[in-house]
Amino acid sequence: MILIVDDKPENIFSLKKILELNDFLVDSAYSGEEALKKILKNDYFLIILDVQMPEMDGFEVAEAIRGHSKSKDIPVIFLSAVNTEKKFITKGYASGGIDYITKPVDPDILILKVKTLYKLYEQTRALNEAQLALRAEIEFRKQAQAELRDRLQELRSILETIPHIAFTAKDNGVIEFVNQHWFDYSDSDTTFPEHHPDDEDINIAWQQAVNTGADLSIEVRIKKLNTEEYRYHKLSVSSIKEDGQTIKWVGTLTDIEDQKEAEKKKDEFLSIASHELKTPLTSIKAYFQLLERALKNPGASIVDSDKYLGRTRFQLDRLHNLITDLLDVSKIQSGKLKFDKKTFAFTPLLEGTVDMLRQTNPEYELIIENHSDALIFADELRIEQVLINYLTNAIKYSPDNKKVIIESRITEDSQLFVSVQDFGVGISQEKKDHIFSKFYRVEETSHKFQGLGIGLYICSEIIKRHQGVYGVDSVENEGSIFYFKIPIK
Ligand code: ADP
Repeated sequence: MILIVDDKPENIFSLKKILELNDFLVDSAYSGEEALKKILKNDYFLIILDVQMPEMDGFEVAEAIRGHSKSKDIPVIFLSAVNTEKKFITKGYASGGIDYITKPVDPDILILKVKTLYKLYEQTRALNEAQLALRAEIEFRKQAQAELRDRLQELRSILETIPHIAFTAKDNGVIEFVNQHWFDYSDSDTTFPEHHPDDEDINIAWQQAVNTGADLSIEVRIKKLNTEEYRYHKLSVSSIKEDGQTIKWVGTLTDIEDQKEAEKKKDEFLSIASHELKTPLTSIKAYFQLLERALKNPGASIVDSDKYLGRTRFQLDRLHNLITDLLDVSKIQSGKLKFDKKTFAFTPLLEGTVDMLRQTNPEYELIIENHSDALIFADELRIEQVLINYLTNAIKYSPDNKKVIIESRITEDSQLFVSVQDFGVGISQEKKDHIFSKFYRVEETSHKFQGLGIGLYICSEIIKRHQGVYGVDSVENEGSIFYFKIPIK
């Protein structure tokens, strides 16, 4: 809209007509004061200002317009009939006018000027809008960047606290952040830890993932810095995508060495267990065939049949014990190993157990040094199981020295202490700590002696459940003393 300010209505009228004929919206004011009020209220792109007005002249009005932030940029054209002298024109420009036209107004010239100013106004407005939009865009980007920085910072803080090796990389695969655990395996924050030569090359796998944008998950051994130790890790890298485009990668290396070791042990155990179970079964099958043949042969001796039956029974017992042990392990695992504690005399239990073993192992000298003439409160069968285990191990692991000494006594703090000493193969210092673990067998002797590596584990659980302690003292090639101690009551 254009505002015409003139104290003479006829002047306004003629100008208004000219402008309206050219499709401009026109408003008018008859004095400087009225003009200023209207300017504050409405939006004008041009003000045509008569210089000669009573009260406030055009120059004063123009100065007031310039002084106000809302109107300071509206172009002003001065209109004058008389003051065409240079000094008035200069004053007009000095007070903020951008053009000066004299009366009588040439309509064509006026329209040309107004149109030019309108074009300028439109351009300025468009420019201002673009500038505003640009500012908003810059602001938005700044905010988005700040948010991204915050999120990244948050992610990094999280990655610092997790127990895994963690890193982030740019979309092109260049590593940009690593957490502290990284430096246990790599001395540079831009290169992956060294992988085992027999395993998949981490760098090649990583490059492939970056090229295809696909997530990565591999198991690989990496070398601990400044050592020769390689440990199995699972490398998992996921891409963070925005509009389908990878913008970042987040990766972890999780130590799975123990898991791998457990898997290996489980596989080994399965193969040993099947072998251990198959051996007595094969013998049973063979004795059964012999027995069958003897029964069909009327001339066969009853002594032979008896012998086969005895051997079958022995193998069946072996099988039964193996399966009972396996079941015990699974019961321990699920917390279902039951105890039936009651008060009983320990000496008869010890003597009965040793007697039984004397009969099955007549070549061994089993010496009892018993000073434990006391009643104890425990699960008799389970304590017998521990005794049998210690004793059969003592016999099994001392093939060349057939003496075993069993000692029992009541300690000063009212505990039953029992030890079984053999003079056999013994156990090295570093293996001693492991032999009560599940499935553990000393490698050096495992090929020579059969076993599942669960007997001592079951013993340890039984003693623990009696609030007792257990252990072994041993010297390699000299023998071992296995012991346990449980409260009497
Ligand atoms: P197993 O005898 O079936 O292998 P155990 O759990 O009874 O399983 O024993 C675990 C391991 O401890 C054995 O494999 C053996 O290496 C070692 N061990 C146990 N008892 C003795 C012993 N008296 N002398 C030497 N080594 C022993």
